[in-house]
Amino acid sequence: MAKRDYYEVLGVGKDASADEVKRAYRRMAMKYHPDKNPDDKEAEAKFKECAEAYEVLSDPDKRRQYDQFGHEGLRGTGMHDFSRMNVEDIFSMFGLDDFFGGIFGGGRRARAGRPGGPARGYDLETNVELTLNDVAGGTEKTIEFTRQDLCAECAGSGSAKGAKPGRCATCGGRGQVARGGGFFQMVSTCPQCKGSGQIITNPCRKCKGTGRVPKKRTVAIKIPPGVHEGQGIRVSSEGEPGRNGGPRGDLYCYVRIKPHEFLQRDGNDLIAVVPISFTQAALGATIDVPSLNGTRGLKIPPGTQFGRVFRIRGQGLPDLRTRRTGDQLVQVTIETPTRLNSKQEELLREFAKTENKRVSPQAVGFFEKLKKHFGNAK
Ligand SMILES: [Zn+2]
Ligand SMILES: [Zn+2]
Repeated sequence: MAKRDYYEVLGVGKDASADEVKRAYRRMAMKYHPDKNPDDKEAEAKFKECAEAYEVLSDPDKRRQYDQFGHEGLRGTGMHDFSRMNVEDIFSMFGLDDFFGGIFGGGRRARAGRPGGPARGYDLETNVELTLNDVAGGTEKTIEFTRQDLCAECAGSGSAKGAKPGRCATCGGRGQVARGGGFFQMVSTCPQCKGSGQIITNPCRKCKGTGRVPKKRTVAIKIPPGVHEGQGIRVSSEGEPGRNGGPRGDLYCYVRIKPHEFLQRDGNDLIAVVPISFTQAALGATIDVPSLNGTRGLKIPPGTQFGRVFRIRGQGLPDLRTRRTGDQLVQVTIETPTRLNSKQEELLREFAKTENKRVSPQAVGFFEKLKKHFGNAK
């Protein structure tokens, strides 16, 4: 599926300030919020699309990459895969859960689990680029990407060595706060400690108290034969680390297939378009056709017409499930010679005579006849 322009998604201009981007995201996220649009899959998809746009446009580095190179520029930057994330996680990710909690009644985190309890890490997505030969035989690829990982300095605690976090004064360590009064009292995640109940008083220098640092990660992934463009390969437990002892998320690696110079893919078949000369077409020939493993000979019968398709069985790509191999299709086009030497021209004129065809400029041509018929109009 083609991704929409992130600025368009949030409805802001290319020169929008960080603040404008944030306000636009809040506005859109409210509009498409699942609580406001129950059981509306389209609204949920829109909501996630907004979150993805916001993740990029709110991060100066990612925004720069995106401005310069578009969606392609974000390859390997460790983007979150919002399509697989639940709404609660998306809230807490941008620190807006309090904001939404206040509007929609809160308690979402509580439903998702005890505040500050173990939670699974986020899924990440990245791309892997393959050649058609990789697809044919399957392969193993090494991919490098950046993810937020536990800070080694503080083991993810966010506190400087030897320091202990203090109890959050805002929520008294409960991780939740009540707002309003009487009948309309609402409980939501504590905005100060984000539900952990603790406040870091002496932050780790390396991660500035977040407990996470961006880290380059290299993984080898096995690509089965027959994969298709856009297909996601799941690499389990290579996403971001979980919170409070929760398991790591997964990495989804999306297949991008590099165009081949001579071959096009159609399902499991490969198509090559090969030009031949008109004499080869008329007289028959054995021609060289490109295949996945260099060139191979193909017999063309005499009297081959323009556009004819020849099928070479079993020379296509394997089916991902059945492993049955597709075919290679060769379509011929016929080239008309543009430069004849005198000998060739003479032979062709002789040939034309045998066909009883008029050939310009020697015989009285078709256009001469037309002129005679219609007078000397231009
Ligand atoms: Zn740290
Ligand atoms: Zn708190």
